Amino acid sequence: MADTVIEISIICPFHNETNNVNFFMEQIFGVLSEVKRSFEIVCVNDGSSDATLENLIDEKKRRSNIKVINLSRKFGKEAALTAGIEHSCGRAIIPIDADLQDPPDLIKSMVSFWEKGYDVVLAKRTDRSKDDFIKRFTSKLFYKIHNMISDTTIPENVGDYRLITRKVVNAIDKLPENQRFMKGIFAWVGFKTVTVEFKREKRKTGRTNFNTWQLWNLAIDCITSFSTAPLRVWLYIGTLISFLSFLYGSFILIRTIIFGIDVPGYASLLTIMLFLGGIQLIGIGVIGEYIGRIYLESKRRPSYIVENIY
Ligand code: UDP
Ligand code: MG
Repeated sequence: MADTVIEISIICPFHNETNNVNFFMEQIFGVLSEVKRSFEIVCVNDGSSDATLENLIDEKKRRSNIKVINLSRKFGKEAALTAGIEHSCGRAIIPIDADLQDPPDLIKSMVSFWEKGYDVVLAKRTDRSKDDFIKRFTSKLFYKIHNMISDTTIPENVGDYRLITRKVVNAIDKLPENQRFMKGIFAWVGFKTVTVEFKREKRKTGRTNFNTWQLWNLAIDCITSFSTAPLRVWLYIGTLISFLSFLYGSFILIRTIIFGIDVPGYASLLTIMLFLGGIQLIGIGVIGEYIGRIYLESKRRPSYIVENIY
């Protein structure tokens, strides 16, 4: 297989997906046999604590075209995806989740758009009725806020499931950051893009790896990766508060001149002090968040370590 050109690389991160491995391979191989192009499946085991790795190696023994990258520990989905992309050699790359919430059937229409000359084929979820209301609402809010304050527009309801060509991968390789929020990075590089739509399914087995707290942190990571608006906003808040304080100070001065000294005012003083204290702490927190990112980036650590390639 070494000298045949691989046309399609499927990249899939696996974290504790023992029961999904076999079904995943069956489905993917089924679809790819219809596509009739040479392919490889790059499976990245992201520090699973169950039998995922053994199952993947088993599958590799049974079928050709599978590559298994075992990371030395859990590095998270974004790092696992990066690892998979960096170890792939296809002319087109398709990242997909192991739980098959994104229908593999869509690969066929993605490939047909690729043939028409598109470099990025996005898969957009049109029907999210399988996700609960809170998840849908918060995700909508996130995209609204993010796209309002950032120059990089991240398309709504589009996950990592997409087709990108080698050209796009080469562009992504040029980005040196190791804090990788892939959705944002994919959007940032641009290229000729088309969107196909699909219905998101329920997870086959197992549970989601992301709870609300992790999603919240992911949202902060994303916003701080692609926008400095949260830093700049303090300039405006500061200016506004200084201006209001000046007005209030002038008011007190004039009142004192007209009516003499007024002793009461303890409550209003305390309120203003606490309010300003709170505002300052939030400001410091935001600055801290960015300094944290600078700190992590400045260490220049790789975003993942490979234990072995099978
Ligand atoms: N995943 C991973 N590392 C993690 C979390 C998730 O490799 O730390 C993989 C997981 O095995 C799956 C994909 O990322 O293939 C998506 O995860 P999940 O289905 O839990 O996310 P959701 O669909 O709920 O957003
Ligand atoms: Mg899932």
